[in-house]
Amino acid sequence: MISPFCVRSRIPMIYSVSMTQKTFLAVKPEAFKRNDTVGIVKMLEEKLGAKCLAMKAYTPSQELAEAHYAVHRERPFFGELITSFTSGPILGMVWEGENVIEKARELMGATNPEQAAEGTIRKAFAKSISDNAIHGSDASETAENEIKLHFPEANFSVIAKPSAEAENLIKASV
Ligand code: UDP
Ligand code: MG
Repeated sequence: MISPFCVRSRIPMIYSVSMTQKTFLAVKPEAFKRNDTVGIVKMLEEKLGAKCLAMKAYTPSQELAEAHYAVHRERPFFGELITSFTSGPILGMVWEGENVIEKARELMGATNPEQAAEGTIRKAFAKSISDNAIHGSDASETAENEIKLHFPEANFSVIAKPSAEAENLIKASV
């Protein structure tokens, strides 16, 4: 028979299981144009506690942008959002780590930079709610869909120094 003590002692073990996840993050076109990409990637590198598995610079097509933001199709800002997201290159990335989806959302800060906490990426780099510097997946299902959408090639391997890689990508793209 299992003793109550033994049963109780298992509970913390069950609840302390943390999940290795992947998330899709992107420096948005306006921040990319302002040359904030390397600064944003440096914050991810220093504060996220996760590994970068993929990174590329590309201008999203209309089709990609509409699929990426499909959940917002009925919102009044949808048209402006798609125009913004297709207006120039983004730096799309896949990061992996324990609970990385929630951790990245925390490090990004609130959607509206006026409400973003000190120390967050949006506090440092966003200009307004529509020009808020960074995108990050908001749940595991969205993360999976967004990674498939932006990285259909799916060739992932750890990038040792993401900020240096970002610098090289930007130099190569100009
Ligand atoms: N957005 C906007 N006006 C709003 C709400 C959102 O322009 O009133 C834009 C903003 O760029 C935001 C994106 O739409 O990042 C997606 O909105 P969401 O609520 O998913 O915010 P996020 O997940 O990016 O924090
Ligand atoms: Mg969102």
